[in-house]
Amino acid sequence: MILGRIAAAAALSIACIATGIADDTAPPETSGFEPKVVLITFDGVRWQDVFRGADPALVKADVHEDLHKYVSSAFGSGSSVMPFLHGVIARQGVLLGNRDVGECAEVQNDMWFSYPGYTEMLAGKPNPEIVENDPIQNPDVTVLEWANKRAEFAGKVEMVGTWNLFPYIVNAGRSGVPVNAALNGQEGTDARTGRAGLELLASRKPRLIHISFDDTDKYAHVGNYESYLASMERGDEYLRQLWQQLQDDPYYRGQTTLIVTTDHGRGHEPREAWHDHSSPRYHALNPEYQPQYNGIGVVGSDEIWVAALGPAVTSGGRDSYRSGRCVAQAQIAKSIVVALGGDPGTFTAEAAAPFAFIAAPKQ
Ligand SMILES: [Zn+2]
Repeated sequence: MILGRIAAAAALSIACIATGIADDTAPPETSGFEPKVVLITFDGVRWQDVFRGADPALVKADVHEDLHKYVSSAFGSGSSVMPFLHGVIARQGVLLGNRDVGECAEVQNDMWFSYPGYTEMLAGKPNPEIVENDPIQNPDVTVLEWANKRAEFAGKVEMVGTWNLFPYIVNAGRSGVPVNAALNGQEGTDARTGRAGLELLASRKPRLIHISFDDTDKYAHVGNYESYLASMERGDEYLRQLWQQLQDDPYYRGQTTLIVTTDHGRGHEPREAWHDHSSPRYHALNPEYQPQYNGIGVVGSDEIWVAALGPAVTSGGRDSYRSGRCVAQAQIAKSIVVALGGDPGTFTAEAAAPFAFIAAPKQ
């Protein structure tokens, strides 16, 4: 693998000499330890489905009768829905948010849907002004922008997402972060987004990339439980493939921390509330929208889950979240700064502290 890349680089420099064109596209070869981070998000995936697997009541109510047996059997536990998350990430790293065992992961924003969630996650703090999923350029600096404006990461930050609001959330114009460039203007299905992410990792060699998937939220909103669960499993299989690709590449192997999470949860009561997610404040601002949730919001849609694997993950820190102390979505931004080997003091002062289980990675 190493020999192959050096040979290819040598061939390319010969070509550049021949044509007189400077080679500024090839990633630099590096032998030193250089931390990297891959952030993966699955939109609107409930902790209940991650940890418990298919809910029999939802299978009964929201899955076609002909598929009841198949769905119950295929997705009968959390580890059958997301085997890599439970079998590898949770064992070798951290997986938090299982309220059945007293863990808690939550958002701090008071909206409980996507733009407020992604900006909290990426900027390290909720923005109370973001009250709709509207195409508004994010006033806050995301960790992607922070990285792209620092010499050691400039030009090595990428974002690829299935949702068309990401160029606004990342404020692509101001931050200079390429968003969805790899999709060539196509509407991104999860398959295309995922492929683009793997290709970017192989070609542009980013040190920080956010790859964001959306099928789960799309299918949940229309109450298609079997497709929602199947999207989770496909997402998990993607994590396995991604992790394999990272370990096969000497540029990433042993230097890359993977963080996996969701932007918001979904409801659980009444039965059909799993389709939706929104807060009491959102309903106070929009009393006409799903008025059955006025006053309380879709209870539980602020509940999330978080996972991490790689050299920045420390074994001890996880335990500090075992006695009811919640991890917050806002902690992700500074956790990424630290996992990249950066100084969290150079990021937005009001951003939440990094997770206790994240520390600067060492060789
Ligand atoms: Zn949604």
